Amino acid sequence: MSVDNIKKIGVIGAGQMGRGIAHVAALAGYDVQLMDANPDVLTTAIESIKGYMSRQVEKGKIQQSDVDAALPLIETGTDMSFFSDSDLVIEAATENEELKQAILKDLCPVLKPEAIIASNTSSISITRLAARTDRPGQFVGMHFMNPVPAMELVEMIRGIATEEETFRAVSELAVKLGKSPVPAEDFPAFIVNRMLIPMINEAVYTLYEGVGTVAAIDNAMRMGAHHPMGPLQLADFIGLDTCLAVMNVLHEGLADSKYRPCPLLVKYVEAGWLGKKTGKGFYDYSGDEPVPTR
Ligand code: NAD
Repeated sequence: MSVDNIKKIGVIGAGQMGRGIAHVAALAGYDVQLMDANPDVLTTAIESIKGYMSRQVEKGKIQQSDVDAALPLIETGTDMSFFSDSDLVIEAATENEELKQAILKDLCPVLKPEAIIASNTSSISITRLAARTDRPGQFVGMHFMNPVPAMELVEMIRGIATEEETFRAVSELAVKLGKSPVPAEDFPAFIVNRMLIPMINEAVYTLYEGVGTVAAIDNAMRMGAHHPMGPLQLADFIGLDTCLAVMNVLHEGLADSKYRPCPLLVKYVEAGWLGKKTGKGFYDYSGDEPVPTR
């Protein structure tokens, strides 16, 4: 399938990533089918897309007429049968391999034979996910960054069986969505998270060993390396459970002790202090200003 044959895009999972993907696909003029197992999430997702688009209009990034054209292009549903006429389905459900395998098992029988499947996984092997489908050649990694409407990059991951035609079509689609694709081979955590998450893990070790406080570590990297966010602030934004999951994938997948997750990161996750999304991580978000928790 070439990029010109992609007209209808399915998105599985309407969480922070799925709704962002639906947002940029609809603004680019594609018919979007946004699906989530939880109907309440779909209602919140549409509200959040509307809110985000309004802020983009206020900032002059898009026109109100773009919003008026885009919103009706997004259909929502809770059932896999939704995808019987999709040309491409992007899986953006929770980062859990068993769950993703189960979704793919249910998805394949309803798809058109020529349809492409892409996964937005941050760290799971594209080759392994593809192998469980009826179309490993038409399976590719399409790793958007968070928040999707604001971030330029899409990492394009080639599984061992991914056909060149599929890889090219989805990379060209990324450009049509206003993104810049960067190719990556299918090794644990790909390119960005291979470097970014170990840096965050090292920041947690720096805290754990008492080299600096939360504020000192984040200020040091903001002012000393010109990072827009400190690494612990960024960890809270990504979600500490996601950071730990990626470290575990690196540790197991590359079998190198340099990727061992910091025990303090494990402890925060065990406490349910997952960052911004739970209201507490390396910072406490219950007041007007985030307050360091150490
Ligand atoms: P999220 O928790 O915000 O959303 C996941 C959604 O999947 C939830 O709404 C959940 O209801 C839905 N879901 C779970 N099981 C489902 C099923 N069987 N069928 C349909 N929907 C189902 O998570 P997220 O941050 O949006 O992450 C989604 C994917 O994107 C993960 O693979 C993650 O690794 C990847 N990703 C995340 C980030 C990030 O910064 N958060 C960045 C890039 C990629």
